[in-house]
Amino acid sequence: MKNLFKNFFLVLIIFLTISYLFSLYSSKSTPVEKIGLERLVQEINNEEIASITVKGDNLSIVLKDNREQTADKEPGESLSQLLHNYGVSPEKITAVNIRVKNDSTATIFLTTVLPLLIPILVFAGLFYFIMRSAQGVNNRALSFGQTTAKEIDRHKNKITFKDVGGVKEAKEELREVVQFLKQPKKFTDLGAKIPKGILLLGSPGTGKTLLARAVAGEANVPFFSLSGSEFVEMFVGVGASRVRDLFKKAKKSAPCIVFIDEIDAVGRRRGAGLGGSHDEREQTLNQILVEMDGFEADTNVIVMAATNRPDVLDPALLRPGRFDRQVILDEPDIKDRYEILKIHATNKPLAQDADLHLVAQRTPGFSGADLANVLNEAAILAAKKNKKVIDNEDLLVSIEKVMLGPERKSRLLSDKEKEITAYHEAGHALVAHFLPHTDPVQKISIVARGQAGGYTLKMPERDKHLQSKQEFIEEIAVLLGGYLSEKIVYGEVTTGATSDLRQATGLARRLVTDFGMSEKLGPRTFGEKEEMIFLGREIHEQRDYSEKVAEQIDQEINNFIHQARTMAEEIINNHRQELETISHELITKETIEKDAFEAMVGPKPLA
Ligand code: ADP
Ligand code: MG
Ligand code: ZN
Repeated sequence: MKNLFKNFFLVLIIFLTISYLFSLYSSKSTPVEKIGLERLVQEINNEEIASITVKGDNLSIVLKDNREQTADKEPGESLSQLLHNYGVSPEKITAVNIRVKNDSTATIFLTTVLPLLIPILVFAGLFYFIMRSAQGVNNRALSFGQTTAKEIDRHKNKITFKDVGGVKEAKEELREVVQFLKQPKKFTDLGAKIPKGILLLGSPGTGKTLLARAVAGEANVPFFSLSGSEFVEMFVGVGASRVRDLFKKAKKSAPCIVFIDEIDAVGRRRGAGLGGSHDEREQTLNQILVEMDGFEADTNVIVMAATNRPDVLDPALLRPGRFDRQVILDEPDIKDRYEILKIHATNKPLAQDADLHLVAQRTPGFSGADLANVLNEAAILAAKKNKKVIDNEDLLVSIEKVMLGPERKSRLLSDKEKEITAYHEAGHALVAHFLPHTDPVQKISIVARGQAGGYTLKMPERDKHLQSKQEFIEEIAVLLGGYLSEKIVYGEVTTGATSDLRQATGLARRLVTDFGMSEKLGPRTFGEKEEMIFLGREIHEQRDYSEKVAEQIDQEINNFIHQARTMAEEIINNHRQELETISHELITKETIEKDAFEAMVGPKPLA
């Protein structure tokens, strides 16, 4: 809008200037006396005239006394012919100095062309400006089929392997790719085929996007990045033409990397599901495959893609010659977590007591993004307290914040609610403490956090990769601890246990259907977890078992839950005294840390 105004004024000013110039040009001729032809003949006969300049049909007359006059002659006749017709004698005519001046081109331009041209110019100008400002709106519409891929400036914010912590195997694999990009000849000379597609697999936040950029940074090649969801738009055919455009661009700037983030958005198994958006996705996916197949052997474009859902990818994507290399990004273990923390702490001033080893130890299951978030939250916390450095306290508080969401101190509990919550959490804590295979309790609190009314924080002492049936059942017991404590103390339960029960049931179901941990049903899985999208909703399980087996599954789930319940009940009944102590402490202090807790219940029994 602002632009339109500016342009409008510009046109107006040009217009005014031209009119002014015009008025100057035309005003010059007005003060001269205009005479008729008879008068002219008279003056010639009286020999008063010094010269006559003929310009078209216009006569400029200069008299001997220097006065100036003008006259118009009849068109089509020369002045001497005219004078002759008026009966002026030839001698008199020759005595007058007659000069004939052709209209100069400049004058023709000024007098005839310009007046025609100006309105045209003004309109053309206006039209142009209006078009231009309208284009701002339409640009997006006009550039549909073009790729929206951004080439990231590789000299600014350059990311290299040094900026990626952990994921050692993945980095090792990708070093090879960097070599391919840097010295393709070394490999092609030996007849080796350069891989076309590399698929990065890992759960969200493990650094897939980061690692892809780091490969481009290490190889120092252009990096075209596009998210899978950007391909899919409302208009059919846009995705495919975007893909074409993207690859055309990439081939021009080879060697380079094309990165398709979240490829599962387009690369889902074709033909699964019902619904309109499917055709579009399939076309897009087909185009990607066509482009990758069309690479010449020496096209040095490497396509990288990332997903956290390899299970839903179309098998055609994983065929040789396409994304046949798969690089798995593991969740960081304690050493990796320390490394990642150190990377993200480089630009943050840490206090002497800040212990990143401790943070790494207390954050099993955290992804790289979570860890980056912990440090960021700690910095924000320190800044809020007007501190110059981040101390250990800030770090530890931030871990909980990232894990459970922010504390909601404003959620007021009545005294009765507070008491119930205290017993509930004490129940979780007790069961967690006295069972041999559970993670030790770190903290108990009845301050609301995120969705939870209160929480009991448990933390494994080391990273776990495999879990046994016994551990799962104990976990279910801990989940039931809150419910049972309420039931034992008050004889009834509140809605506070809902999500615990849902989690416990879910876990018990997985023991039976996914882990094959039921003796009765044996070593098999139940239910095909196939992805189908119908009217925007994902329908998960496909039953691959009979009604009779369904009944047995339900029974087994009940069995597991019953086992867990018996375990938890026994512990709470045997430790009623401790339950009271912990609850009262919670009601007064709201939070109990690990040391204070162990002082009340003794050390955790060993497995
Ligand atoms: P993904 O693409 O796997 O979901 P990202 O690469 O987008 O994860 O990671 C998000 C952010 O988390 C990164 O920008 C980075 O700050 C941090 N991060 C994740 N993994 C790592 C890692 N291995 N090393 C360092 N930082 C990491
Ligand atoms: Mg990502
Ligand atoms: Zn609970």
